Amino acid sequence: MLANFIGMARRLREQLQQQGITNARVLDVIERTPRHNFMPESLAHKAYENTALPIGNGQTISQPYIVAQMTSLLLTHQPRRVLEIGTGSGYQTAVLAQLVDEVYSVERISALQYQAKRRLNKLDLHHVRTKLGDGWQGWASKAPFDGIIVTAAAAKIPQDLLTQLSPQQGIMVLPLGEGRHRLLVIQRDGDDFSYRDIEDVRFVPLIAGDTE
Ligand code: SAM
Repeated sequence: MLANFIGMARRLREQLQQQGITNARVLDVIERTPRHNFMPESLAHKAYENTALPIGNGQTISQPYIVAQMTSLLLTHQPRRVLEIGTGSGYQTAVLAQLVDEVYSVERISALQYQAKRRLNKLDLHHVRTKLGDGWQGWASKAPFDGIIVTAAAAKIPQDLLTQLSPQQGIMVLPLGEGRHRLLVIQRDGDDFSYRDIEDVRFVPLIAGDTE
């Protein structure tokens, strides 16, 4: 990374720690991931600010705090295979790819999926599979997943994702609700699901239906 970006990334790490992120592996990965590569060049000077930013097609790259928080929650039982719904810029995907063995990511907008795939390849993150599709349906042929992370707000819990979660302590992290969104952690143990409510968050909606 360029010298000025290195300093900004270090300050971002400190801010995340002040906000309560304690997982050192997550903080290390966020500090070394070149977030400026995951957005339009005209916004690169803002890349290490702790804010969501526009990435085109009416979508956003998530705020670093949210990426750190959701990733930390997802890592509770050290998942090996993770499904992400909403590839977007590919930034959250890149963070996950440095922490788990296999990442699968679904995006419904083809232009975003294409760009994200190129960025991930450029960073040599080859153990990531991306596909164009409707995230409400997950990725059944690759299930079960130890972890599922949904990076757009679902109006209700996607039932297909629940069934694709590993019965052995599979964990899903998702923003839920219409208008007001709450971050939720769902853990599966066999046929039982437990729910933990975390905090208020703000996301673009998880859209139902065809890809673009
Ligand atoms: N993880 C992303 C990142 O780091 O840039 C954040 C992505 S943005 C907040 C949410 C993404 O979810 C958008 O790219 C949007 O197109 C995608 N999305 C919305 N509904 C979807 C669906 N049903 N299936 C797949 N992707 C969806």
